[in-house]
Amino acid sequence: MEAKLIEWVEIAPGVRHFIFEAPRLARLDFIPGQFVSLTDSVDSRAITRAYSIASAPGAGNRFELCLNRVEDGTFTPHLFDLSPGDAVEMQPPLGTFTLRQPLRDSLLVATGTGIAPFRSMLKIALQPGSPAFTLLFGVRFESHLLYREGFEEMEQEFPQFHFWPTLTQPGPDWRGRTGRVQTHLMEAIAGRKDVDIYLCGLRPMVDDVRQILKGMGFDRKQIRYEKYD
Ligand SMILES: Cc1cc2nc3c(=O)[nH]c(=O)nc-3n(C[C@H](O)[C@H](O)[C@H](O)COP(=O)(O)OP(=O)(O)OC[C@H]3O[C@@H](n4cnc5c(N)ncnc54)[C@H](O)[C@@H]3O)c2cc1C
Repeated sequence: MEAKLIEWVEIAPGVRHFIFEAPRLARLDFIPGQFVSLTDSVDSRAITRAYSIASAPGAGNRFELCLNRVEDGTFTPHLFDLSPGDAVEMQPPLGTFTLRQPLRDSLLVATGTGIAPFRSMLKIALQPGSPAFTLLFGVRFESHLLYREGFEEMEQEFPQFHFWPTLTQPGPDWRGRTGRVQTHLMEAIAGRKDVDIYLCGLRPMVDDVRQILKGMGFDRKQIRYEKYD
């Protein structure tokens, strides 16, 4: 099927929020946390890459992606050259990086564009009286706190939601958490064993956090992860 670009917005240096639609479908069905695969021809070669859906289901055939431009990458510079109205091939949503049911208090750990699936999940999972969610989000600079306003609004609306951004390169005015997400794991877990933990980002973070959680005695079933590379 086809995915047509409707519009994009730069939400941080080198990061864009893309709005696509699947024109041949009335509705795109997916579970928050799933990804789509996009394919297009780059230098006469068909290239396919996976992208987590950053929006919630229920917007008809529209869906949103959050993409980081990898400077020497094959596909992302090409996607960043697309204009509204351009289309690429798309495979339907897939993936098992979804919230476990029944929902339990959860810790979501993201770095960079690894925030995308969590934005989708939280838009659906946070309801009055829902379990508690803590979102631990690591980036280098404050300007890279993707969707910060949206998460801060969720925090206002839902007392059981905690947004914990952390910066590895904070500016002089930053008063929040600093350092890598790993630094804040213990505090976020607060000695509990009855939480589900979700990790999304590049391999070094995901592998490292899994190792730490294993050392803390977490069961493999309680940890779900998506590696972007
Ligand atoms: C299930 C899944 C979901 C994904 N969802 C997203 C998403 O929502 N947003 C997104 O931006 N990417 C996502 N990715 C990564 C994406 O598929 C591509 O790998 C990425 O866009 C780079 O493609 P490229 O062809 O430009 O780079 P390539 O030429 O393939 O070069 C790969 C290099 O890019 C690095 N890289 C891969 N992803 C990223 C990233 N996000 N940020 C920084 N460096 C990266 C790799 O470490 C590697 O060094 C996802 C990957 C998977 C497997």
